[in-house]
Amino acid sequence: MTKAGVTGMSDLLERIDQAIDQMADDMSLSVMMVIAAPTIAGRPCIIRRKAPGSKDAYGSTTVRPDGLPVIRIDPDLGKDTVKIYLHELAHIRLGHVDQVRRTNLHLAAPRSIPADANPSIREWENQVDDQVNEWLRYGRKHADPGDQLGIIQALYKHYKKPNKRG
Ligand SMILES: [Zn+2]
Repeated sequence: MTKAGVTGMSDLLERIDQAIDQMADDMSLSVMMVIAAPTIAGRPCIIRRKAPGSKDAYGSTTVRPDGLPVIRIDPDLGKDTVKIYLHELAHIRLGHVDQVRRTNLHLAAPRSIPADANPSIREWENQVDDQVNEWLRYGRKHADPGDQLGIIQALYKHYKKPNKRG
């Protein structure tokens, strides 16, 4: 192999190594998101890292006919993933899901529904923003490391503690 070939090969190996690290991080985040969701939301719910049915949403929460909330989150949000994740969990913890119609929208094809088919309720979004800000403040303060995974772990531990809910 030529010198250029060796350099090219080690560059390639380094890129593969970085890609594997990235995949491992991403998998850890996905697993933690699934495990922590019912605890942070305060009740059973399902998480799918799949783009929402709505054309303009990064995340969505719909309620199945059996009453189980289903959250869908765009898998390509990068560092905004935790914000969207907590946003949807807040809709559940704040009880908004009890006031929406039960549907099969969790099965909708990604990006298949017109943007404003389900206009959001301003008052709910404000409540959710407050909750998310509070969670992010707590999460960033207690996360170690302070990345997305750490923030979710910190909130999970917080709500797991007996006699310390809310
Ligand atoms: Zn919302």
